[in-house]
Amino acid sequence: MSGLRFQVVGEAFKKEARPVDVPEDPTSDYFGKYVFGKKQMSQYLSKETVKKINEITKSGKPLDRSIADQVAAGMKKWAMEHGATHYTHWFQPLTEGTAEKHDSFIEYDGAPGEGVIEEFSGKLLAQQEPDASSFPNGGLRNTFEARGYSAWDPSSPAFIVDDTLCVPTIFISYTGEALDYKAPLLKAVDAVTKAAVEVCHYFDTNVKKVYSYLGWEQEYFLVDEGLFAARPDLLLTGRTLLGHESAKNQQLDDHYFGSIPERVQAYMKEVEFEAYKYGIPCKTRHNEVAPNQFEFAPIFGEVNLANDQNLLFMSIMKRIAHKHGFRVLLHEKPFAGVNGSGKHNNWSLGTDTGVGLLTPGKTPEENLQFITFMVNILKAVHKNNALLKASVMTAQNAHRLGANEAPPAIISAFLGSQLSQVLDDIENSNSDEGIILGDKKKMQLGIGNIPEVLVDNTDRNRTSPFAFTGNRFEFRAVGSSANCASALIAINTAVAAQLKEFKAEVDSKIANGIAKEKAIFEVIKQYIKDSKAIRFDGNGYSDEWKAEAAKRGLDCITSVPEIYDAYTTPQSIELFTTTGVFTEKELIARNEVKWETYTKKIQIEARVLGDMIKSSIIPVALKYQKQLLDSQAQMMNIFGADEAKELGSQTLEIIRSISKHVFALESSIKEMVDKRKIANRIESEKEKAIAYHDTVVPYFETIRHHADELELLVDDEMWPLPKYRELLFIR
Ligand code: ADP
Ligand code: MG
Repeated sequence: MSGLRFQVVGEAFKKEARPVDVPEDPTSDYFGKYVFGKKQMSQYLSKETVKKINEITKSGKPLDRSIADQVAAGMKKWAMEHGATHYTHWFQPLTEGTAEKHDSFIEYDGAPGEGVIEEFSGKLLAQQEPDASSFPNGGLRNTFEARGYSAWDPSSPAFIVDDTLCVPTIFISYTGEALDYKAPLLKAVDAVTKAAVEVCHYFDTNVKKVYSYLGWEQEYFLVDEGLFAARPDLLLTGRTLLGHESAKNQQLDDHYFGSIPERVQAYMKEVEFEAYKYGIPCKTRHNEVAPNQFEFAPIFGEVNLANDQNLLFMSIMKRIAHKHGFRVLLHEKPFAGVNGSGKHNNWSLGTDTGVGLLTPGKTPEENLQFITFMVNILKAVHKNNALLKASVMTAQNAHRLGANEAPPAIISAFLGSQLSQVLDDIENSNSDEGIILGDKKKMQLGIGNIPEVLVDNTDRNRTSPFAFTGNRFEFRAVGSSANCASALIAINTAVAAQLKEFKAEVDSKIANGIAKEKAIFEVIKQYIKDSKAIRFDGNGYSDEWKAEAAKRGLDCITSVPEIYDAYTTPQSIELFTTTGVFTEKELIARNEVKWETYTKKIQIEARVLGDMIKSSIIPVALKYQKQLLDSQAQMMNIFGADEAKELGSQTLEIIRSISKHVFALESSIKEMVDKRKIANRIESEKEKAIAYHDTVVPYFETIRHHADELELLVDDEMWPLPKYRELLFIR
């Protein structure tokens, strides 16, 4: 086995950067080439059809069949000209990533057997019936009615991958419940944008639409494909379950500031080139903190589209990595002891009149609007902090949140000193006097003054899970492998409900004869008081914060299966049902899926760990121990027992240590198997997940400890698994 290790290490060292041919033409020439976007629509569809599609996309109204037929015909023509022979509805089931089932365009032309033609009708574009039985549904579907529907989302353009036209769709059950991420995301975005328009009208009646924006930053690790293949844990679980830390890892920060390694540079270049063809506006690429860790980030866009692009992008990353002899690791914590990977969700709201609602303005009116949205968001985050945490929590992300380089498993919001000061001043001001901030002059609102907040709010706090960064919030707790929709459904819905509540309160004050600005000011002031506990600018990694957060009443639960309960509290059920994003039935079903997924992940890890220990770690340790025993026996033959004991005292110590660790491994594995057996007998998905969390997971660390000690004891020449230094430093 160590033969394989040295073979793959040797090969990895010899690999060179794969040349990437990017055309000399400007990017704008091929940007969006594989997407049925605006340009393609105007070329392949009639003016009238384009107009109707735009109306549908804006209003969210259902598609009428005659338009669908025309769009399908144009789409098919375009797709076939670009080499497509198949089509698929591309959807986002509650597993990871996306799903698709490819069908060919061909249909019999007349009677069976008489030749074929290419067909793609509006009916096939608009709706399909993929077998839903293989996707998680949490009991929403009885097996005898396995039907699920996928339905076209015209707000996200179709695209071509290889020979297949992919149509972004939602995925719902026969009875209409969401079985995916896209359907509820569209509802959440609709809710927040409508509620925001209403609030915007206090300030500007010209606003017709508000957009919710997402700019994701995708972190990832690259590992040489040969090394990856020699690690059963990476191959089957996406993370290393064993491995002693490398003598050098990220202490020197030399990776972060170093130049991008050549093989990686070639990989990034090709990923970007490919992404451009899919209309994904990649903007930055750079090294990250841990060795072999990197990041991509595009320019932000409308939430639904940006999220589809992220999912497509993750699949592009995997596909291109293979070409360059790499495997991309999207797992949140592939390596113990070095930084994990997140996917910061930069999130904001903006109007169709071009105003960023989280961008501090120049005029007093604009700033009152800015403060209004800011404070409503803080209130929503405060009220729903447990839910927001649940929205990003998974078995994988749990390794990252709360570890010493990522946001803690507590949601708080960072505002920076300047904005905090503004909110404090408002809180302490008398609305009839107005407020004065530092040397800023009073604002002429007639009532309380909101000073202009400077845009250069650049002080950053990397430890905050939800940080204001000048014109947006950065939701940093989101995991690198996640579908961003989960977090975005939660935040958009929470803010939608909050804005509705705000509007109702202000309107009622106005109805009681209070002037509009004064009414807004009074409600804001109250909200600042109510939501104060969510504001935290200090060090989120510290133990003091954990104690302080608990005192403030913020959710501090760390057990993943228990965190999901936040979805089905009376408060969350009311939140989701009043905004129309989820029914109670859907919430319950989705939690069942989450618990089941959690259990499965831990089950797989436990099995892989057990197999690796039993079939490679223990045998290698014993083999090495036998070598030592043999040499000690020879020593005795030559020098006699007493002298051999003295000369070989170190060797004897190693022999004893190996026995000790092997014994500990054997008994821990046995105990873990017993705990799993008990957990497996539990019927309830929730209780089973809790049993796995409480009784099985704790063995992972014990087992790892003994295996990693053996890694240090056993002759390097014999060790079968590529070591951390090889995984993290060969590129
Ligand atoms: P950082 O300093 O965090 O690296 P960047 O300027 O690289 O910041 O931006 C990170 C992401 O935030 C990018 O995807 C960018 O497009 C996005 N972003 C910038 N402004 C906004 C905004 N108003 N709303 C949403 N996303 C935004
Ligand atoms: Mg950032």
